[in-house]
Amino acid sequence: LESLESGGISLYVHIPFCEKKCGYCDFYSLVPLSSPIVENFLTQLRFHINYAQMLFDSHHVKVNTLYFGGGTPSLISPRQWDHLLNCIQSSFTFHSAVSPLQQISIEANPESLTREHLDVWQDRGVGRISLGLQSMNNRCLTSLDRLASRESNLKALKLISSHWRGTWSADLLSSIPGRCWREEEKDLIELLGFNPPHVSYYHLILEEGTPFFEKHKEEELPSENWQRGKDLLLKEGYRWEEVSNFALPGYEGLHNQAYWELKSYLGLGPGAHSTLLYNHEKSPNLIGKRWEAQKI
Ligand code: SF4
Repeated sequence: LESLESGGISLYVHIPFCEKKCGYCDFYSLVPLSSPIVENFLTQLRFHINYAQMLFDSHHVKVNTLYFGGGTPSLISPRQWDHLLNCIQSSFTFHSAVSPLQQISIEANPESLTREHLDVWQDRGVGRISLGLQSMNNRCLTSLDRLASRESNLKALKLISSHWRGTWSADLLSSIPGRCWREEEKDLIELLGFNPPHVSYYHLILEEGTPFFEKHKEEELPSENWQRGKDLLLKEGYRWEEVSNFALPGYEGLHNQAYWELKSYLGLGPGAHSTLLYNHEKSPNLIGKRWEAQKI
């Protein structure tokens, strides 16, 4: 930690809850959602935040970026976010060299994002939302087993456009089985109509062990679509930041950049990993160990 004093650190917090498992996803998450488990998780998380705070304070380490990923972080209620972000803000000192828009980011799914979330996030200093759309097409969303629909995606995009003062990013999936380039292009063009400062445009990967893999393992994915989508994004003024990420100039995702630049980060939560490994008798499960579902 001593070596981080001047450079600062990034934090990742895994919020491990989903309302339903998407057919292609092999991330660790608990389904279905249960209130006592969420409350218990948040209590444990606050304990871990306090421990990280003591460690950082004693080594004068500042936080550059903090990213809440999932799971589905927008399943946490606005009231619970208010408490959690209050705890974060009173625990960590953020590096003044990092723009407030980039310091705290939260992933959200369209079907659970509300105006109240945006209000609390704005009040508590969140600068960036990452919206998991994946597609704007109901047939594709159904084939992916997403809970969201085209309608809920549009509603979330309109909500962000009208009420969000920070910056934001949207995720779209490329190479969904059975989809031609024209349909994928429609998704991109519709999204770009909302002027997202950043777009994460991912190749769909068939992950072994998922229902999606079993259903499509014999098929060839239309992977050539991604290159055409990339060309479209570049033509529209986005810069290719890294592998799947595209940003308008000045809106690059600083948190992700820290991973690519092999900078130090600390992960909290059951599916998070870290470059820092440390242990403490008072915090035996803090790092490098998967939190047991029944203990959350
Ligand atoms: S919402 Fe995200 S984390 Fe949850 S199952 Fe779907 S893709 Fe996986």
